[in-house]
Amino acid sequence: MIIRLQNVGFHYPGQGEEGTGTVLSGLDWSVDRGEYVAVMGPNGSGKSTLAKLLNALLVPTAGTVQVCGLDTNDHRQWGAIRQRVGMVFQNPDNQIVGTTVRDDVAFGLENLGLPREEMRRRIADVLPRVGLSGMEDQSPHHLSGGQKQRLAIAGVIAMRPDVIVFDEATSMLDPAGRREVLHAIRSLHQGGTTVIHITHSAREALYAQRVVVMAAGAIRLDGSPVDVFNQVDHLQEWSLELPLFAEVADRLRQQGLPLSRRISNE
Ligand code: ADP
Repeated sequence: MIIRLQNVGFHYPGQGEEGTGTVLSGLDWSVDRGEYVAVMGPNGSGKSTLAKLLNALLVPTAGTVQVCGLDTNDHRQWGAIRQRVGMVFQNPDNQIVGTTVRDDVAFGLENLGLPREEMRRRIADVLPRVGLSGMEDQSPHHLSGGQKQRLAIAGVIAMRPDVIVFDEATSMLDPAGRREVLHAIRSLHQGGTTVIHITHSAREALYAQRVVVMAAGAIRLDGSPVDVFNQVDHLQEWSLELPLFAEVADRLRQQGLPLSRRISNE
């Protein structure tokens, strides 16, 4: 188990003392090493808060969050936790710090205090993995949205984290950019990285091994994509997008033509 939440509660400072403004409560959740988990849920359900709890950007107001056996309630572990859990956010422009692609990846590595030679090795290793080799000297501001997001991913994987959390990391991209980033996410998973992918898109969630649905600060569904997307009524209640197969199955059911689970699984 690489991530373990036990009875986690959270409210932002100044809120929640009287039970109002509580963002998360009584959350028990775990993720195994190497899993690829999609997290869905309506706006305000607590997905981003959960993401920030995983790398100690926030600490729980109740319960414990452990990552790789390290407890985020212990501030002496924050540095180690942030190295182990990388984050990629929604807006690629906000994540760029370097004036060239190479400098941008180097920035995080400098913070780790790595020797120059090791930094060079890591940059040379990560850029081809996200399809940006040969672009070392380019200004990141001239890259496409998908390329910028892949640069952000390169910066994160150069730090060699065990877990990467993608928080709506494709939502500002055009279809080509989305495809590129999803491809990068899948290859990270195949390489053994634990992936948590927060997304509004059912189509993207289908790539995960496991789909978690949050609503009002609690986990409501947690299972394989087929099992979760078969709960059509719940998903519509929380205004979540359905993947095409679930929508088709639902319409057929309404017309008295049930599509069997067996067929939809094959
Ligand atoms: P999601 O990612 O699912 O949209 P969030 O985790 O961003 O949900 O937000 C959950 C709840 O916490 C919302 O009600 C939101 O208004 C509140 N919230 C988020 N960030 C802050 C903050 N910095 N201060 C106070 N309340 C916040």
